[in-house]
Amino acid sequence: MAQSYKVAVIGAGMAGLVTARELRREGHQVTVFEKGQRVGGTWLYNPQVESDLLGLDPNREIVHTSLYRSLRVNLPRHVMGFLDYPFVKKEGGDSRSFPGHAEVLRFLEDFARDFGLMELIRFGHEVVGLERVDEVSHEWVIESRTRGMESRWEFKEHAFEAVIVCNGKNTEPNIAEFPGRDAWPGLQMHSHNYRTPEQFKNKIVVLIGNGPSAYDILKDIYPLARQVHQAIRGPDFQLKKLKNHDNAWQHSMIECAHKDGKVVFQDGSIVDADVIIHCTGYKYHFPFLKSNGIITVDNKRVGPLYKHVFPPSLAPWLSFVGLPYLCILSFNTVNRSLHDQTLPVLVIELQGKWVAKVLSGKVELPTEEEMAYSVQELYSQMEKTGWPKHHTHKLHPDKFDYETWLVAQLDITPPERWKQIMLMSVIKIASDYGDNYRDEWNVDKWIQEIDSSNNKSID
Ligand code: FAD
Repeated sequence: MAQSYKVAVIGAGMAGLVTARELRREGHQVTVFEKGQRVGGTWLYNPQVESDLLGLDPNREIVHTSLYRSLRVNLPRHVMGFLDYPFVKKEGGDSRSFPGHAEVLRFLEDFARDFGLMELIRFGHEVVGLERVDEVSHEWVIESRTRGMESRWEFKEHAFEAVIVCNGKNTEPNIAEFPGRDAWPGLQMHSHNYRTPEQFKNKIVVLIGNGPSAYDILKDIYPLARQVHQAIRGPDFQLKKLKNHDNAWQHSMIECAHKDGKVVFQDGSIVDADVIIHCTGYKYHFPFLKSNGIITVDNKRVGPLYKHVFPPSLAPWLSFVGLPYLCILSFNTVNRSLHDQTLPVLVIELQGKWVAKVLSGKVELPTEEEMAYSVQELYSQMEKTGWPKHHTHKLHPDKFDYETWLVAQLDITPPERWKQIMLMSVIKIASDYGDNYRDEWNVDKWIQEIDSSNNKSID
């Protein structure tokens, strides 16, 4: 008979919602703690930004989302739905293949409503403590805080047998380091706090980074800004004018910044900039987790975690859903380069299903020693191949082996083959269409063509 436990999920974003659904399907008693007042996490656009725009002040009031107003998804909606609940076009919504962020929020709200998840969620409950009752017990104490009378914090403790951490990974800014950064007199911010382009009118802006946010923000601000300079780490990047942009250049990384406002790039060029925007990604952050050093976050490595989910010595009673991300060959108007792409929903869903079935006893985990060995093996493999530590949770979409492994553990029907092909080739296709790929690419027609030539499942 399946085992049923009292389980807590931290966060009601995409990961928390689908994990809660899977846990309930497996017969567990589920409570979701959500610090906000609505579901959706990242997809809940908030025009507010944080008081410290670089996110360095640990006491700042945190704004969870990093969305900018103009954001449209960067993967087709066809690969952003769940296996049995696709992200389909709905009447009155944004019917584009690459819709704006509000459409994703609507999808997640519909999902939560259609699966009766709202009744499981304690909104306005921020988890501030998560600790095992004692070293041998499987019982966990969650400490939550809520705003009570006169907006004072009220703290409560709750006991659970298992906890799944789904608090998101795009909120705690990672900032670029360069000499003179702290004394530079202009405005500095992280893309986490970028919302709209108006404040950059007639400004000279330096954007640091080479990921999707850097390109989106560049596209957003260059029509208004006087000049935009993108600084990119790595030997391949030198001073170049960006194609199709009169006022935008690409540089190598910043060498240093001066008190007189000058920013010097490693390619030797110098600009007198007004603003630096760090589009430099995020850190994993679990401020509530008290694990006595069992789980650490070191240079973007959360560990040890078996298959990015279970800490061997605490499995299956503690788990993490939503940590991996993809490494995709990306294309910008000048260069092809490797960068971190967003995590397809499929991985989140498969991880959520795996955790739920492991807890109910339908899927077995290896022994603690075997799991620990597997983690060590991954670390040694990374060392041997020179794969840096901060890429521990980076998946390679070309192989699809993580997803395939999860599908095999779960013994479920693999996703349609075209989804895999789409994920493997989305950047190449996008590069063929150029800057406006979201509007130019006829995704439905592409799927039909792929389907008729290769209508097989992943095997
Ligand atoms: P989140 O959505 O961040 O949800 C975490 C939830 O946990 C939040 O609701 C938060 O309030 C809650 N929480 C956090 N801490 C606590 C606490 N202590 N107590 C209680 N609750 C807590 N993905 C795509 O597939 N396609 C895209 O086009 C795409 N674009 C993106 C663009 C940007 C700018 C960003 C930042 C991300 C993008 N992503 C995209 C990735 C996106 O993050 C994932 O799609 C997905 O939303 C992640 O879901 P999550 O549940 O892991 O995290």
